Amino acid sequence: MAATKVTIWNEFIHEVEHDAVKKVYPDGIHQAIAKGIAGLGEFEIKTATLREKNHGLSEEILSNTDVLIWWGHMAHDQVADATVDMVQKHVLNGMGLIVLHSGHFSKIFKRLMGTHASLKWREADEKERLWNLEPAHPIMAGIPDYFELEQEEMYGERFDIPTPDKLLMVSWFQGGEVFRSACTWQRGHGRVFYFRPGHETFPTYYNEHVLRIIANASRWARRRVTIDSSKAPNSRELEPVPNPTKEHL
Ligand code: ZN
Repeated sequence: MAATKVTIWNEFIHEVEHDAVKKVYPDGIHQAIAKGIAGLGEFEIKTATLREKNHGLSEEILSNTDVLIWWGHMAHDQVADATVDMVQKHVLNGMGLIVLHSGHFSKIFKRLMGTHASLKWREADEKERLWNLEPAHPIMAGIPDYFELEQEEMYGERFDIPTPDKLLMVSWFQGGEVFRSACTWQRGHGRVFYFRPGHETFPTYYNEHVLRIIANASRWARRRVTIDSSKAPNSRELEPVPNPTKEHL
């Protein structure tokens, strides 16, 4: 199988502006993920960030992307609507999309879900335990029954999303809440995966299980086809019909 072409998009503001985050991710979350998944499969990895021209994305780049990974938090509203339109089109035509953590409130995730994608949250440095519900699913390959992150931000239900096609993990938090942490959907010809962990002040994107899930999901969500289904063509009959259309548009 050809290498999966992964483009990792990161807002890349926290790591520049906040020392506590810079300490954890000196080169940015996008670089930590790129390094972390590089050894876990056949990947051709590129990165893109908000402040680059056109946010580092273009028709050409997305046409050459099998799966786009998205991390954003404090600047969702600075992502141009034209970029959101372009990413949505590529997903509907077959590109995969992996949305991480606070990307739940990104324009592209809300667009593709059609809901508010809201949730409860709390920053209390508490433990998260993620339970593997679907060990036979390719995204869960090599993942134990559960694993723990000693410190994470809490996300709690209700997560305002459409019911996932597959729910792969549920998180439990020390403070008592639970959360649907790993969810898949199909939109058009594209596969979408949401994965919860990854608050910027914690070393979550160095965790072996988190990285394996992102690597597995990159393979699972990779582009299978490229089909533009945006048109609704008038169709000629294959067999004779009683009242054939005289003029086809
Ligand atoms: Zn967070």
